[in-house]
Amino acid sequence: MKLADTLRLGAYLARTRWLLRFRGRAAFERWQQRQVRRFLDTHLPRSPYYRQYAGQPLSALPVIDKQAMLAHFDGMNTAGIGLDDATRAALDAEMTRDFAPELRGMTVGLSSGTQGPRGVFLVAPEERARWAGIMMARTLPAALMRRLLIGRRPVKVAFFLRANSNLYSTLKSRRVDFRFHDLVQGVDSHLPALIEQQPDLLVAPASILARLAQHAANGVLPIRPQRVISVAEVLEADDRVRIGQAFGLDVHQLYQCTEGFLGYTCEEGVLHLNEEYVHIEPEWLDREKTRFVPIVTDFSRTTQLIVRYRLGDVLRVRSAPCTCGAPGRAIEAVEGRCDDVLWLPGARQAGLSALYPDMLRQAVTSAPAALPDYRIEQHGMAWRIAVADGAQASHAALAAALQRLIARHELRPPAFQRMPFVDSDAHVKRRRIRCVQRPATSQENHA
Ligand SMILES: [Zn+2]
Repeated sequence: MKLADTLRLGAYLARTRWLLRFRGRAAFERWQQRQVRRFLDTHLPRSPYYRQYAGQPLSALPVIDKQAMLAHFDGMNTAGIGLDDATRAALDAEMTRDFAPELRGMTVGLSSGTQGPRGVFLVAPEERARWAGIMMARTLPAALMRRLLIGRRPVKVAFFLRANSNLYSTLKSRRVDFRFHDLVQGVDSHLPALIEQQPDLLVAPASILARLAQHAANGVLPIRPQRVISVAEVLEADDRVRIGQAFGLDVHQLYQCTEGFLGYTCEEGVLHLNEEYVHIEPEWLDREKTRFVPIVTDFSRTTQLIVRYRLGDVLRVRSAPCTCGAPGRAIEAVEGRCDDVLWLPGARQAGLSALYPDMLRQAVTSAPAALPDYRIEQHGMAWRIAVADGAQASHAALAAALQRLIARHELRPPAFQRMPFVDSDAHVKRRRIRCVQRPATSQENHA
């Protein structure tokens, strides 16, 4: 890393961890408005696509989805890099599992999308340094922060993901012993290296952490990380408990995707949106404003512009504010993708109503008898369900639990069908609940 970038990393670490403080949400929002304005004034004119919108307020800019972002990729970045070149470079890196190559000095990568076209990201060296500083500020507990700054030994990080990127290895330095564990090779083959390293910080998708927790509980993975962080998948309540017990701590979360670093768990254990760097407009899903789809403007990125990007996630707001003082909105949970929401017509009224992933999970966990791991797939008015033990009794109990939820919401029950349980491989994102096809109707009512 160049000296300038090292200094930038340090500056953003200090800024994020200690310097950015606000007297309440209103003061924060005024500050954020100024940051967004400066971002729009400085960087929109540099992008061929956004040049036409220069001088306009954020609310006048188009809301973009993944398709639009890919369609206008060439014009939405300020580096003049085309989608074909970026995709080819990123695919090469994935094929060879050598994630070091760059394209004209830029880091390129693909999102690990579960379906549809994969997102492409483009990050300049100074953005990498900034990202690394913010990331360290957000993830290191006090003892590890002290070690990073003045300790004799490096902070040891073990990082499991489906694809590495130069972005992540920016964290590697004399101060940080960063090891990437490629999930293409499964989980268990990494155990010896993990035991040898004895990581202070363990970062992995929730389902992988659950597997590591199982090994730890069985005594075959003797490690004592000081912090365990879930990424890339929904952290479900049962996994959270299991992982927490195995390692004797509360599991933290990083809400990070191709479109930016969107959220993190604070020292009080509450998930906050990273609004000091990302502007997030809530697109409310219900009248009571408990759930929303985030529309993201990342005013800290200047190469690939992320402006009013509608992310297909459902976020649930936390009702009680957090006492830690962070200005970012407190989030109860990242519930899942928009297509993890299942839909049914009302028993009496017309139109479809939504059943959100956490409602379904809650219904399953509160079933009278403990149920094994499961999958639910909606195909119109048929719900295909699978249970890990394949037992008829488990299947019936799962269907009954869902039935009770559906009755409580006064919805028309679907036909429950059995499907075989297929556990996802380590390199595939786990999704328990999925809407493949909604029932045919034109109206929607959000519950
Ligand atoms: Zn907090």
